[in-house]
Amino acid sequence: MNISVFGKKGNWYRGNLHLHTNFSDGTLAPEEICSFYYQAGYQFVALTDHWNFTQVNLSYDNFITIPAVEYHSGVYHIVALGVNRLLPQSIKSPQEIIDAINQEGGIPIMAHPYWSGITSGDLMALQGFSHLEIYNNVCQITKGKGFSSVHWDELLQSGRQLFGVAVDDAHHRPRQTMEDDLIGSWVMAKAESLDVGSLLQAIRRGDFYSSTGVTIHEVSFLGDRLTVHTSPVQEIRFISQNAQGERVSGCGQEIDKAEYELTGTERYLRIEAVDHHHRFAWTNPFYFNQV
Ligand SMILES: [Zn+2]
Ligand SMILES: [Zn+2]
Repeated sequence: MNISVFGKKGNWYRGNLHLHTNFSDGTLAPEEICSFYYQAGYQFVALTDHWNFTQVNLSYDNFITIPAVEYHSGVYHIVALGVNRLLPQSIKSPQEIIDAINQEGGIPIMAHPYWSGITSGDLMALQGFSHLEIYNNVCQITKGKGFSSVHWDELLQSGRQLFGVAVDDAHHRPRQTMEDDLIGSWVMAKAESLDVGSLLQAIRRGDFYSSTGVTIHEVSFLGDRLTVHTSPVQEIRFISQNAQGERVSGCGQEIDKAEYELTGTERYLRIEAVDHHHRFAWTNPFYFNQV
């Protein structure tokens, strides 16, 4: 069993790992969009313009940017975190992009598979990535296709170990018929300190959970019993392979705690909680009985 991030030492930092500025197809200057996130209480963002490194000079206390870029290969979009130079455009296939990001010491994140029309089978054909966008705010707001958690579960069920990331992918093109795509989702990463190296290490290890508004306060194990404490929600789901797992409902009332008794046959278990505004939080998976 891996150790839950909730039992580790460190500080929680709130961040958005995917957003665009007017250096690609976003509408806001890098300084403007960082100001939005800083004022909303985030401590870090990654500016992930399309095939472009976007630099910004900031003077905020307790707010940093992680060097990043978003690459494409056909319908495959791949966010590269913690890289320091652009790949040549001659790199074409998604596998080549993933391999190149890894060689650079970066973290590849497979972006918005549902919106892209990428299946879990397509993802299973690729190797070398451990992070998947399970929620993408702009894909949800514009097309209703922001949730990719079924892709996540199909890969987990196949034995792959993957962390789930919620991002805004903000472009900030508000219209009257659409909500703004800023400040809609985030990761809470637990790191030793607020610096690029510590945050990248935390994200690489999976020491984070993802949220669109629900807070997960604690996940603890006592023997075979797993207990989760959250902000007030309508239901808490313990998701595992095939028909394993359990959904705990407040039956119309709010709950802030749920327990699950491991049966001993789970290969993985992850927790997601949903509140009455349909806001979510997702833990990363805990692994058991892996061959
Ligand atoms: Zn994209
Ligand atoms: Zn994007």
